[in-house]
Amino acid sequence: MESSDKKYVYFFAKDQAEGRAQMKNLLGGKGANLAEMTHIGIPVPPGFTLTTEVCTAYYDTNRQYPDNLAGQVDENLLKMEELMGAKFGDADNPLLVSIRSGARQSMPGMMETILNVGLNDITVEGLINKTNNPRFAYDAYRRLIQMYSDVVMEKSAGIEPEEGQGIRNQLERAMHTMKEQKGYTSDTDLTAEDLKELLDIYKTTVQRVLGKTFPQKAKEQLWGSISAVFQSWNGKRAIAYREIEGIPGEWGTAVNVQAMAYGNMGETSATGVAFTRNPATGENAFFGEWLINAQGEDVVAGTRTPNPINEAGKSEFNQHLASLETNMPELYRELDGYQKKLENHYKDMQDLEFTIQEGTLYLLQTRTGKRTANAALRMAVEMYESGKIDDRTAVTRVTPEQLDILLHPIVDPEAEATAEQLGKGLPAGPGGATGQIVFTAQEAVNWAEEGKHVILVREETNPEDVSGMRAAQAVLTARGGMTSHAALVARGWGKCCIVGAGNLKIDAGNKTMTTAGGKILKEGDFVTLNGTKGYVYDGQLPLVKVGEGNVYFQKFLAICDQVRTLGVRANAETPADSLKAVSFGAEGIGLFRTEHMFYGEGSEEPLSKLRKMIVSKTLEERRVALDELFPYVKNDLKKTFEVMAGRPVTIRLLDPPLHEFVPHNQEGQQSLADDSGIPLAEIKARIDSLRESNPMMGHRGVRLGITYPEIAETQIRAIFEAAAELLKENKKVSPEIMIPVTAAQSELAHQKKIISRVYSEVLQKHGLNEIPHLVGTMIEIPRACLMAHKMAEESDFFSFGTNDLTQMGFGFSRDDVVGFMGDYIEQGLIAADPFQTIDQEGIGQLIEMTVKKGRKTKSDLKIGICGEQGGDPDSVDFCHRAGLNYVSCSPFRVPIARLSAAQAAVRHGTFKAESNPGCGCGCAKVEEIREAEAGA
Ligand code: PEP
Ligand code: MG
Repeated sequence: MESSDKKYVYFFAKDQAEGRAQMKNLLGGKGANLAEMTHIGIPVPPGFTLTTEVCTAYYDTNRQYPDNLAGQVDENLLKMEELMGAKFGDADNPLLVSIRSGARQSMPGMMETILNVGLNDITVEGLINKTNNPRFAYDAYRRLIQMYSDVVMEKSAGIEPEEGQGIRNQLERAMHTMKEQKGYTSDTDLTAEDLKELLDIYKTTVQRVLGKTFPQKAKEQLWGSISAVFQSWNGKRAIAYREIEGIPGEWGTAVNVQAMAYGNMGETSATGVAFTRNPATGENAFFGEWLINAQGEDVVAGTRTPNPINEAGKSEFNQHLASLETNMPELYRELDGYQKKLENHYKDMQDLEFTIQEGTLYLLQTRTGKRTANAALRMAVEMYESGKIDDRTAVTRVTPEQLDILLHPIVDPEAEATAEQLGKGLPAGPGGATGQIVFTAQEAVNWAEEGKHVILVREETNPEDVSGMRAAQAVLTARGGMTSHAALVARGWGKCCIVGAGNLKIDAGNKTMTTAGGKILKEGDFVTLNGTKGYVYDGQLPLVKVGEGNVYFQKFLAICDQVRTLGVRANAETPADSLKAVSFGAEGIGLFRTEHMFYGEGSEEPLSKLRKMIVSKTLEERRVALDELFPYVKNDLKKTFEVMAGRPVTIRLLDPPLHEFVPHNQEGQQSLADDSGIPLAEIKARIDSLRESNPMMGHRGVRLGITYPEIAETQIRAIFEAAAELLKENKKVSPEIMIPVTAAQSELAHQKKIISRVYSEVLQKHGLNEIPHLVGTMIEIPRACLMAHKMAEESDFFSFGTNDLTQMGFGFSRDDVVGFMGDYIEQGLIAADPFQTIDQEGIGQLIEMTVKKGRKTKSDLKIGICGEQGGDPDSVDFCHRAGLNYVSCSPFRVPIARLSAAQAAVRHGTFKAESNPGCGCGCAKVEEIREAEAGA
């Protein structure tokens, strides 16, 4: 289509919307949802959306608009004028509009909004005649000057005033001064006459500070505002937010021009923000805040403490304030009907904005509401249990990061009980955090870079603070409500946050915070926040982990299990870790590193036996030492098998080079000499002989079992004996013997001979016919991948050791990579650290090839992964696609892996047959759902 024919503007109004919810990429989340709301019978003031393509074209052509855009805007403005019975810029009957941004993915507070566009010295009089409400009209005009001068004349013009010297601050100060002079406490005390006087002060202040007059032409205001919104897409704070959230710059924003609905026309007008469920707890209760005789920005800006929307939402902080439910019961019921309708329509919690203009209710926005991790979990479970969504949708409603938060700390309740409370605020972002206080976003960033834990303390946050909020452990503000910028952003990030702690006096200039009791805290002092309750404490309190006892946690993971096809095991080697792993839902142990019994608690005795074995010179000496070691290995395994109660346990034969176990200091060597009866000089010589230039590629893994078959034999015997003893006690066992660091079929064949011989001997000894078990290999050397078809002839299973496979595949030493990985990532030479997330492009090919070749030889070959990447969501997705049977990761990552596996199943449309059939709500694919959410 020629650009001259291209449609750049989409209209929305009752029965006339040109867009739909699905058109978020073009219309932005806000525009698409406004259109959708009109389709389902929700009252929305009419308006039109300039598409994201206008934004892209604007930036592609050096900030020029497509030729036909102005014509399309005029046509749509005319349609609005007809519907509203008013004319834009008309002296007697002016139509006023709002200009708002609306990207595909919501970016709370990052971009600009300008309200009351179309007011000037003449139209304001028309508005007075029309409404018979001079106070309202002057107030609306005052707000326009404030927003326009800030957004269009200052920010968009690239002016960067000093902190506190921006035009918005200067105008606010002018209003404050007037209030003080007149002895008023609230903005609403200002009379029409006061506001009229203030308008003159505003206009002269704008002229003085910015050197330009506030534009009087309505059209100039309209285009100035539209351009400022497009410019704000590339403003500093929007770019910073996009970087953090991974939103591509090419997406652009749409701009919505909409007829104004006024919440500030008197005592029968109001405005508010509400959520269809509680965004902090997830409780299925309509939740929100409202203000009588106010405009929307008053609620989110935190300049007035908002009232609770209903009686149920009252807390100790706002119980004295009237709810909409009691103040305007009929309108509350109407709103309640719409919120239910919206949640049923979108099948997710909605965050909506409404305005009541002289007794008439309008909805100005709906979008998928941001929520805490706890709330996300509860909503997913409850919506699933009530049949609102199916299991495949439910698993997409919680991100792996959110689940992770639940495995993170809260303030230790015992310490909290006796701690000194400094203040109280609204519990905006749950969890606990402790750190040193700083008073600006920049300090938060700087201190965090030095490795300090900081709490960002602000009077109120604004979008410029995002990088500081990100860098801080938590955010504390003195002003603002639950829907304020700080609360929204922190909640979205799962960050601990307290807002509206009004009893704390914050003096950013002097870098102090004073409590109601007069205690003064300075920059660098420690505080602790309980973001779940809204309490601020003095000093550093201990934090403890939550999540385990959460009833929704287990229920949610059970839903994940219903959907996923990929198994999840844990890497564990002690009975305690194994128990933890099982409690987190591990279906088995995917890697039991035998050598771990020689490290840590209770390892002295087995380690001394192992050392004796290592320094043995003859086979006889070694056998004696191994016999002494045997009972330790067997008992250790037996305990773990018992805990795992028949679940598979993959025991890896000894892997590390032997020199890792011997003492390298004089004292240790002397004690080994005493213990073994070998002279010290001889011990030293034997230890020296174990030294290797390149131990990672040296005498380790299967190579040990080839040089010293008796070492392998002892471990194998311990495995079978432990299993046999348990079988005879009528207990179930399922050992899987895994041979590490193999590169050839012959190595496997060599070890398998030992395994078969020992197996027969143990069967005979215990009079058993069978010990169920498998024999397999780690795949961690590229040659093993190339030879997978042959390796499979000797294996019941493969397990990818992606730590070594990445090391050998990249040639990056896993022990030395810290020296250069940072440079690779910083310079964009590599997208992510391949030791954390599988390099799908390169190492991924080795994995895919191995799966293919291995299963060609043995179609039922069991394949897993036990490298560190096994708990990383992207790597789990890759493993699902590559057709692995399971991933194995550390016990704490098991819940994340269960969720990631379920999401991968949904994302690729390959879920468990028993999972619920699609419910027709578009839930068959995660991508679609994500997109729908992102756009809202
Ligand atoms: C691996 O190499 O990925 C692995 C799991 O083994 P390790 O880390 O013990 O070498
Ligand atoms: Mg390895």
